Amino acid sequence: MKKSLDELIQKRLLSIDDLRNVLPSLRSDDFTNLIYATFLHQKQHWGMFNEGWNGFLSSEYKKFRFNWFEIKTQFNPTRFVSSSAKVDDETIKKRKCFLCLENLPSEQKGILFESKKNSNERLIFLCNPAPIFNEHFTVSNVHHTPQEIYSRIEAMLELAEICNNEYTIFYNGPKCGASAPDHFHFQACPSNELLTEKDFLNHPEKFHHLLDFENLTIKYITQEEYLRNVLIISSTDANKVGKVFRDIYQLLQKINSTDVEPLMNIFALQRNNDYHLVIFPREKHRPDCYFAEGEERMLISPGLVDMCGMLVTPLQKDFERVDEKIIRQVYSEVTLSDKKFSQLIDEITKL
Ligand SMILES: [Zn+2]
Repeated sequence: MKKSLDELIQKRLLSIDDLRNVLPSLRSDDFTNLIYATFLHQKQHWGMFNEGWNGFLSSEYKKFRFNWFEIKTQFNPTRFVSSSAKVDDETIKKRKCFLCLENLPSEQKGILFESKKNSNERLIFLCNPAPIFNEHFTVSNVHHTPQEIYSRIEAMLELAEICNNEYTIFYNGPKCGASAPDHFHFQACPSNELLTEKDFLNHPEKFHHLLDFENLTIKYITQEEYLRNVLIISSTDANKVGKVFRDIYQLLQKINSTDVEPLMNIFALQRNNDYHLVIFPREKHRPDCYFAEGEERMLISPGLVDMCGMLVTPLQKDFERVDEKIIRQVYSEVTLSDKKFSQLIDEITKL
């Protein structure tokens, strides 16, 4: 007999007692500590996650200095499945969805976030079994519903708010990094882990003011200056950020001559009452080296984390081969072209 959705959700949720077993001082209204306790709980009680987490711990890193900012590479073999995932419609239709509640491993459990603004937005924080960060969560909808951001930007900002300086929320578009394009999910990682987050907060002077009006600022930085074309919307008013995001989304559709979601990766955070939405518009998902034959082939499949400056390489040979030239080449192929980006900048000034 098919179980009702509410039953499936209840079965997946950790109780406050489960969480207090790993974090005794936990208060039920302290959302960021509920997230942290979920991580602690799953490390103890879900073997597959513990294995993946240990895999993450033995990751190796290289750093590349580009003037005032840094790019890192992470050699993390546990990411092989995700980086090499086939995300075409046919493959997706045939496989069992790994984010649907009924398909999760029995030990995988989490906590619920219910949007105050949209009662359809019920999302569950689950530990990612192949983490890129010490704490790395998939925040997935309880329904099997496609990855799309246009109607969910408010929920994203709401999440950024309750994460209260402790976690950052990010999103990969269905055709540029999401390995489950058919099942809606955000992701979350601890604050100050994403390199662009640090670059933006520590070097505000490097980002150009594009527009300032009524408590809203739009800034940008170009590929020439930063290897990637990036746009940032900031305001103390989440509704304004959401509205301007939708305007920019439509401009990107126009510039890309498409009526589906323009390729993009996004992260959202709140600091000192300001909401910041950082957008990486994209030209394509995977660089040419991903499809090359033989020696030239490299398993580099950029999502938000990579766009922020940490390129994840699941294969050792790629990790050893990546150099400054390859980094420049990869970013120049996957970031929105300079021509389209300057068109976008131009159109935004007319908003
Ligand atoms: Zn699903």
